[in-house]
Amino acid sequence: MAVQTVAGTADTTASATPNVHLGPAAALSCRECGERFELGPLFACASCFGPLEVAYELPTGAPEELRKRIEAGPDNIWRYAPLLPVPADVAEKPNLNPGFTKLVKADNLARELGVTGGLYVKDDSGNPTHSFKDRVVAIAVEAARAFGFTTLSCSSTGNLAGAVGAAAARAGLRSCVFIPHDLEQGKVVMAAVYGGELVGIEGNYDDVNRFCSELIGDPLGEGWGFVNVNLRPYYGEGSKTLAYEICEQLGWRLPDQIVIPIASGSQLTKIDKGFQELIKLGLVEDRPYKIFGAQAEGCSPVSAAFKAGHDVVRPQKPNTIAKSLAIGNPADGPYVLDIARRTGGAVEDVTDEQVVDAIKLLARTEGIFGETAGGVTVGVTKKLVEAGVIDPTLTTVVLNTGDGLKTLDAVSATSQATATIKPSLDAFRAAGLASA
Ligand SMILES: *Cc1c(COP(=O)(O)O)cnc(C)c1O
Ligand SMILES: [Zn+2]
Repeated sequence: MAVQTVAGTADTTASATPNVHLGPAAALSCRECGERFELGPLFACASCFGPLEVAYELPTGAPEELRKRIEAGPDNIWRYAPLLPVPADVAEKPNLNPGFTKLVKADNLARELGVTGGLYVKDDSGNPTHSFKDRVVAIAVEAARAFGFTTLSCSSTGNLAGAVGAAAARAGLRSCVFIPHDLEQGKVVMAAVYGGELVGIEGNYDDVNRFCSELIGDPLGEGWGFVNVNLRPYYGEGSKTLAYEICEQLGWRLPDQIVIPIASGSQLTKIDKGFQELIKLGLVEDRPYKIFGAQAEGCSPVSAAFKAGHDVVRPQKPNTIAKSLAIGNPADGPYVLDIARRTGGAVEDVTDEQVVDAIKLLARTEGIFGETAGGVTVGVTKKLVEAGVIDPTLTTVVLNTGDGLKTLDAVSATSQATATIKPSLDAFRAAGLASA
């Protein structure tokens, strides 16, 4: 979708929250009907209930100037502050400074998959809490500060809870986060260790999310900023930084193809928004790119809709080891379908067994230990290359959005010591592992 700009901003500041200054953010606008609202903790259109997103007054002027300004910025997402809903002095505030993670040229993996046009892994396990969620939370924290919220909250499939806990600790805010009770140990510990409140809900993510929506409307949740509910329009914008970084790291060039995991679908839709903005600003050449969405078979509502040719997404009950992606009723599902179809991409899914194989493939070929979500994207990439859907002669970027240490269970059964021996050379010789 094209970026919207505002002709006049005078009337957008005469509101209930008159002192909100979030950089180039001019208003919220409805994705469905286009109605505009003043910046505030709103997430649904008052007229049609469509989702709201941030509309900007983006920088004007020579692309070369903006490019230089970005390149002179800090080595984190704040180098893109002129394109984000954050105050100009954001880099000086206490926050986790996520982003500018490695874009790894994955030549070994490329050889294994038969990709000749250049294969890259954008490795977001390098973020402060080891998942891409630090990006979105960093933006939500600025919105929470601007709106005067004192408690930071979220409904989470695991990674978000950890990112919120850590960001709140650094920002000096209280946090209280909600997760399904049966998450991986690594996710639970990472959500709890930063000292905020962590609540396990007896149910799946969709139950947790429904609970949080009720809490927002209740006095019990007053003064709470739920990063992915009432701060969702701001939160989502953090994913644009993945698009910016990938293009900058490719030498200010769009990738030809990109494979993105889908939970709610927010990340995928905002990466597309980021690419569109770069084109509009003249920072990259306007060339076609294809966006591919990746899901696990055990939670594949968007992939199922794509394959069936549907515009709506029928909710599923998740059952997969890829718990970070286990959202059975994805809020941005229909927009993901639009984008995959508009760009000539696709949405595909892989089995849990293929997820495990792909985690190990990425580790064995590139020395990158991804979480199950990374297994989903690498597995889907392999499947789509083999099916001839992904063109192996074009530049392809695959996202690894989290760290394998958080989902050890997925590979622990098949990743153990090769041998356990007595500390003697005889024993080592007997094990048959000597090089000569
Ligand atoms: C949350 C998450 C995603 C994507 O989430 P969306 O809701 O689709 O934006 C991808 N990978 C990991 C590891 C995540 O935690
Ligand atoms: Zn609307």
